[in-house]
Amino acid sequence: MAVTAIVASSFPSSQHLISSSSSSCPHRASKVRTPLLQSSRGSIATSSSSSFVGEKLFLAGGVNQSRRECSLWRNLIFVPPKAVSELDDSEACLDSTPGEVFGYASPEPRHSSAARKYDRHPQNVDLPPVLPKKKKKPYPIPIHKVQRSARIDKKLAQMGVEKHLEPPKNGLLVPELIPVAYQTLESWKVLIEGLAQLLTVVPVYGCRECPEVYVGSAGHLIQDCSGPQNVKRRSRHVWVRGTINDVLIPIEAYHLFDPFGHRIKHETRFNYERIPAVVELCIQAGVELPQYPSRRRSIPVRMLGKKVIDRGGFVEEPKPCRSQDAMALLSEIDTYAVLNGQFISPPADTRKAAERTLKAYSTVRSGVRQLMKKYTVKACGYCSEVHVGPWGHNAKLCGAFKHQWRDGKHGWQDATIDEVIPPNFVWHLKDPQGPPPSGALKRFYGKAPAVVEVCVQAGAEIPDAYRPMMRLDIVVPEAEEARLVA
Ligand SMILES: [Zn+2]
Ligand SMILES: [Zn+2]
Ligand SMILES: [Zn+2]
Repeated sequence: MAVTAIVASSFPSSQHLISSSSSSCPHRASKVRTPLLQSSRGSIATSSSSSFVGEKLFLAGGVNQSRRECSLWRNLIFVPPKAVSELDDSEACLDSTPGEVFGYASPEPRHSSAARKYDRHPQNVDLPPVLPKKKKKPYPIPIHKVQRSARIDKKLAQMGVEKHLEPPKNGLLVPELIPVAYQTLESWKVLIEGLAQLLTVVPVYGCRECPEVYVGSAGHLIQDCSGPQNVKRRSRHVWVRGTINDVLIPIEAYHLFDPFGHRIKHETRFNYERIPAVVELCIQAGVELPQYPSRRRSIPVRMLGKKVIDRGGFVEEPKPCRSQDAMALLSEIDTYAVLNGQFISPPADTRKAAERTLKAYSTVRSGVRQLMKKYTVKACGYCSEVHVGPWGHNAKLCGAFKHQWRDGKHGWQDATIDEVIPPNFVWHLKDPQGPPPSGALKRFYGKAPAVVEVCVQAGAEIPDAYRPMMRLDIVVPEAEEARLVA
C-alpha cells in the first residue's frame, strides 16, 4: 500500500520513471506480483455428511465423484488452446501447448467439449499454490528445450545459415492479430473505467504490511499476514482502504519505438516511457497511438544466430505528440492516471456495469493470451519486471532474491499471461453482508481473481470458468459446526 500511495502522488508520465528508478530496490516493497495466496492446500468439503480422506474432505457424493473431478481437472489442464471466437465471456485456460503445464500459471479451467457436460455441476479445485519467495520462478518452457534450440541456432550460424524468422519474430506485423490488438486495447479501457466506477460501490482493502487484498467491507480475520513484524501482530493484517491498483495490479513495461533497435541500457533507461505492459503489447502488435509511436517495417529483420545482421538501420524516434488528447488517452489506459483523475461517480446501473467490466476483463485476458502466442514478452525470473519485445532490457533494477549476485540484472525468460495480468486472487464471499472469513473457517472459502470478485459482488453473474475455485457448492458452516466437521 505504501508504495502505491507514494507512486500515485505525482502525475503519471513523470512518476513512471520515478517508480522504476528512485530506489535501487524498486521491487522490494512493491505489491506487484507477490501472489496473494495463503492457504496452500484447499480442502474440499460440504457441510453435510462428508468423509475425510487424506487431506481432503470429499463431497458427500462419494469418493468416485471426487476421483472423477480429479481426473477431469487433469484433463482440463491438458486441453489445447481454443480460438478467440469460442472464448466469449468465459475465459480459456493455460496458454500452454498440450503437455506443457506452467507450474505457477493460475489454473483457469477451460471449457473443452469434454468438460462442458459437467458445467452445470461446478467442480471444486485446489486454491492456487503458494510460490516460495526465495526461489527463482519455474521456466515456462523447460530449460533443456531452450538450450537445445539455442544449440541448433548456434550451429546453423556457424555454418552461415540465417535464422528462419516468421512474423512477428522478423519485425513485421501479423495482420490477423491487428484487430485482436485493437479489441484488447478497447476492452482494457472499458475494464479500467468500469473498475473505477465499481470501486465507488464495492469496498476493497489492502494490507499495509503485505500484498494481501480483500474485497468486502473492513478486511478479513484470517491471521496469515507475512509482512514485517507480523509476529507482534499475531499475523493479523493491517487493513487500509484499497484502490484500483490493488485490484488490477499495475504491470508496466518500457515503450519501445523499435523493439528490434537499440537495447535499453541501465544508463539510457530514462529515455523510455513506462506504460502498462498490456498497452505496449497492443502497440507492438499493430495499434497506432500517436503519443507512443512505433516503427513499422516493410522489410524483415534478418538474423544469424543471436546476431541481427539486417534491421534496416537504426531510425531516430519521432518526438511523441504531447497534446491534450495524449493526456486524455493516458487517463483511459493507465490505472495510476485514474487515481489522479477527477471524481468518479458511481455507475448508473451497477449490475450492468459489473457485467460489462467482467466481460472486458475476459476479453483482455484472451486477447493478451492470443498476442503472446506470437509476440515475445519476457519476464524476470526473480521479480515482477516485464519486457515486451524480443530481448529483454539491461536496466539493473532487479531488487529480488540474490540480485547482488546478478549485479541487479534481471533474469529474462518467457513470460506467462499471469505475469502480464496477475490474477491477484482474493477470498470469494458468498454473502458479502455476512461475517468476514475467519481462520477457523478458512478451508470452506474459495478464491477468485480480484477483478472477478469485485464484479461478482457488484452483481455480475459468475463466469463458469471461475466457479470451481470459488467453491460455490460448499456451504460455509457456523463456527461451532466447523469444529465438528473437522
Ligand atoms: Zn537492491
Ligand atoms: Zn498483511
Ligand atoms: Zn528482476
